[in-house]
Amino acid sequence: MNAALSEFDLIARYFKRAVPGGMVGGGDDCALFTVAPGMQVATSTDLLLEGRHFFSDVDPFTLGHKTLAVNLSDLAAMGATPVGCLLGLGLPTIDESWVARFAEGFYTQAEAFNCPLLGGDTTRSLHGITLSVTVFGTVNSSLTMRRNAAQAGDEIWVSGELGAADIACRMIAGQAPMDAALLKATRAALETPTPRIALGQALAAHAHAAIDISDGLLQDLSHVLHASGCGATLDEAAIPVHPALQPLLTAPGAQARLRQAILAGGDLYELCFTAPVTAHAAIRVLGAQLNIPVTPIGMVTQAPGLVVYDRSGHAIADLPAGFDHFRTK
Ligand code: ADP
Ligand code: MG
Repeated sequence: MNAALSEFDLIARYFKRAVPGGMVGGGDDCALFTVAPGMQVATSTDLLLEGRHFFSDVDPFTLGHKTLAVNLSDLAAMGATPVGCLLGLGLPTIDESWVARFAEGFYTQAEAFNCPLLGGDTTRSLHGITLSVTVFGTVNSSLTMRRNAAQAGDEIWVSGELGAADIACRMIAGQAPMDAALLKATRAALETPTPRIALGQALAAHAHAAIDISDGLLQDLSHVLHASGCGATLDEAAIPVHPALQPLLTAPGAQARLRQAILAGGDLYELCFTAPVTAHAAIRVLGAQLNIPVTPIGMVTQAPGLVVYDRSGHAIADLPAGFDHFRTK
């Protein structure tokens, strides 16, 4: 830490906004919060490393936003209500304006989702910036959505529209040709995702299983299917494509890239969930009330394996890399 600003000054200046009454926040040795009777604590932690999870030159405001948003997304997938969070910060040097912007971005999410920062740890790191967030939420123990709860005959749904984060990420990383207009239209999906907290809470009464698809639709859905001992069929044409990617549907040579982005693209904080067909109408109503697209994209099957039918109704033989092991021939 530099001499101008100590670790304690830094925390006091940027990471000590008031916490709600009844909670003890940063400053004591531990944070304290109370959970109502009948509720369980849901907790999750994520690490974000410079160069691995975010680009070194990313805007610190959007980084602060994303650092908390990706954790809130895990609470959303459990149907949990946020209670508070902890922030671990490893910084090679103190760049005060960077920290100020980061904290602003972080607090936009903390305040938007009532998830106060209750404490953390700050240290000098040797190589690059390391961020670690732990979130706490509460769930009604009878209403949690669990990965192992999908049932054959369930419909499979996704929230939002897919593909944009992957397309943006590949352009920024130099893995796909730069298209400035396309980057402009997709960048927010990558950098400032919206955790689906309200949707997750509302779904808990209807859905069997849910997961956030931060590692890509097929990979994350396959976790649900493995845990539940089921398989699935998906209809590629039904999967909602981000509006900025619509031109890729017909652009020569762009289909493979689009398919990869939709089926396997990560950094996506939408929910994939399974629910009995009898809940179909109620889920449509929820989506409309919350103004979040919710789209049925397939079915859970008794037979194991994950089969995706393409736009002409044929099973896709070469699903994006990494998923072949789960495919039945
Ligand atoms: P300890 O020595 O017990 O680890 P610290 O001196 O590291 O405590 O931290 C002092 C207080 O500041 C603690 O209450 C801690 O929760 C809080 N704190 C430290 N780093 C952060 C941070 N990055 N964000 C929020 N609170 C923090
Ligand atoms: Mg400490």
